[in-house]
Amino acid sequence: MNYKTDEYFHNVYQEAEESRETQSVNKAALASMLGDFQEKKSGRPPEMLETKELSAYRRERYVFHYTDDRPGPVYVLTPKNGEERHPAVLALHGHGYGSREIAGLTENGEEDEEGSGIHRQFAALLASRGFKVFAPEIIGFGDRRLDEDKRRDRPKSCYKMAAQLLSVGKTLAGLRVQEARLLLDDMATFPDVNESGPGIMGFSGGGLIAAYTAALDERVQAAVLSGFVNIYKESLWPMEHCLDNYVPGLLSGAELPAYIGLAAPRPLFIESGQRDPIFPLKGAEKAVEMLRDIYQNQQAAGELEWEPFDGAHEVRAVRCVSWLREHLSSH
Ligand SMILES: [Zn+2]
Repeated sequence: MNYKTDEYFHNVYQEAEESRETQSVNKAALASMLGDFQEKKSGRPPEMLETKELSAYRRERYVFHYTDDRPGPVYVLTPKNGEERHPAVLALHGHGYGSREIAGLTENGEEDEEGSGIHRQFAALLASRGFKVFAPEIIGFGDRRLDEDKRRDRPKSCYKMAAQLLSVGKTLAGLRVQEARLLLDDMATFPDVNESGPGIMGFSGGGLIAAYTAALDERVQAAVLSGFVNIYKESLWPMEHCLDNYVPGLLSGAELPAYIGLAAPRPLFIESGQRDPIFPLKGAEKAVEMLRDIYQNQQAAGELEWEPFDGAHEVRAVRCVSWLREHLSSH
């Protein structure tokens, strides 16, 4: 009797190899589809604009120089817990009024004690729980809107820049991912961040940037994606999402979870509001199922967490906070 043991182990090898090949093909494809943003990096260090002491953390606003002609403000929140070094998190807001919305401020820059918005002030929340948080103003929002969008207070402040970038073979998603990766360079220069590497957390449109940044940049040690993970067919395809979500050719290569799964085998935490109308639960379930296969193939099934919760299109930020703490080790 041939129990086909050799054949079985041959297949195990083949499956692993195919999975690796797919991962590398998808990774190269994603980088290429996002567009080429290889402008020369600015050598200028970040400059502090303002600082404020709060009870649980210090809030500083810096200007970071992504390239010589592209500076942008970033909130840097440092916990006041007596630790010399902190786990670092890059926190990426979604659509709304920008970095102030997650850093505990109103649109006008005043302290927002209530924090009742859908972002749950997650940058401030993470800082109060011991993380050193970097919350950039994502291009297209807040102080980084085009002048005409600021004047008219147009809600669709991504549209024109997304359309212009598409016209020259680039994407707004790609520009934002490039900035996130350049920010990772600068984050590592702060002496009070853990050397073991940063985590990333993004909500909605910020979830997209966090997903693609984690996919392409292995420095990201753990990722939390809130209000974003889904399959294309149930979210971006049937609905009119902001133009910044659309990357030419993306769907021809693979469904969305294949790109999100490029983070594997690194730890990934997904939050999905069960009543989210724009990234529906049905699509989130399918995406998580596909991601479980990817993590399984990478022998990392335990590194994927999914929290569907009683909520709409909003951040939850409960379980993921202690999960991040566990996965960003303290050295
Ligand atoms: Zn947008």
